[in-house]
Amino acid sequence: MHHSADGNLPGRQIRGATPRRPAADRRERPLSASRSTAPSSRRSGAESGRGGPVTAPAGRLDAKRLAAFFAAEGRDLPWRRPAAGGWGVLVSEVMLQQTPVARVLPIYLEWMRRWPTPAALAADSPGEAVRTWGRLGYPRRALRLHAAAAVLVAEHDGRVPSDLPSLLALPGVGEYTARAVAAFAFGRRHPVVDTNVRRVLSRAVRGVDEHGPATARDRDEVERLLPTEPRAAVAFGAALMELGALRCTVTSPVCHGCPLADRCAWLAAGRPAGPARRPAQAWHGTDRQMRGRIMALLRDADGPLSDADLYPTTAPTRQDPTQWRRCLDSLLADGLAVRDQDGLVSLPGVTGR
Ligand code: SF4
Repeated sequence: MHHSADGNLPGRQIRGATPRRPAADRRERPLSASRSTAPSSRRSGAESGRGGPVTAPAGRLDAKRLAAFFAAEGRDLPWRRPAAGGWGVLVSEVMLQQTPVARVLPIYLEWMRRWPTPAALAADSPGEAVRTWGRLGYPRRALRLHAAAAVLVAEHDGRVPSDLPSLLALPGVGEYTARAVAAFAFGRRHPVVDTNVRRVLSRAVRGVDEHGPATARDRDEVERLLPTEPRAAVAFGAALMELGALRCTVTSPVCHGCPLADRCAWLAAGRPAGPARRPAQAWHGTDRQMRGRIMALLRDADGPLSDADLYPTTAPTRQDPTQWRRCLDSLLADGLAVRDQDGLVSLPGVTGR
């Protein structure tokens, strides 16, 4: 029997019958613990229990229509294929956090080529993980994936576990990522709610254009809407996510031809504007930009660098030595860079190429 890269059995029935797994264009941060965990007092018609276990819950989110949409429009991405296994799904979910699919794709492919199993990554240095992470952003995710690989080797025989408590115990794995891996890699029935799903839920079911990270309330509501049969539940969640990524987008929802259009509460209400969105965060001149400049120098270096080597020499970041020092110190504090006994700086565990 064929085993996936991490030893988990691919397919597991769910793969054969479930449409290709979607990947939202951006994933949210883990659910905020500060948000209410109380279940919604609003219960849709979908919760009435009508319909069989594999059919759609009656209501605004029709599972059969969503499945047809996903079969017709769902994207073919490498982490949706059965061969991705638990490890491929975990890697993709961590990379997709707040990062568009187009930027993730080449890094994901290179990552899986180099480290097709958790054991392969754990045997390499964390610095190589950071180097391969490249310009994906939020590079601490690379360190956490490396740390997760070490835990998988030490505690799970090099395999990605399928149960929520074990997944949640892994470094860098929060409520969203744990459920996404359990559902998409192992066919477990869990509500997987990212910002795309939240947007569809808000518009189609609640009739409002809410935004911001998904909450525990969203997760509870999606759980009540899920078909009871696990394969159907995974297909439902996958299609909902893809609909949010491809059609029900933030600024330009394509309602014409949407499988939910004739029951969408927001469309029926005339697409009322929601609260004003926060303007996009500036990038130019920020600490994130400066940290990125320093990390690029470290990634490209053949060996340890002096502080002078690490001082960006091109505008605009060379003008502020105080910011540069603060950013270098923060990279060292985060473990993304290490200083040796000679005062030279390199990626962690990397002595040269
Ligand atoms: S009809 Fe429009 S707003 Fe409603 S779910 Fe579809 S794309 Fe989103």
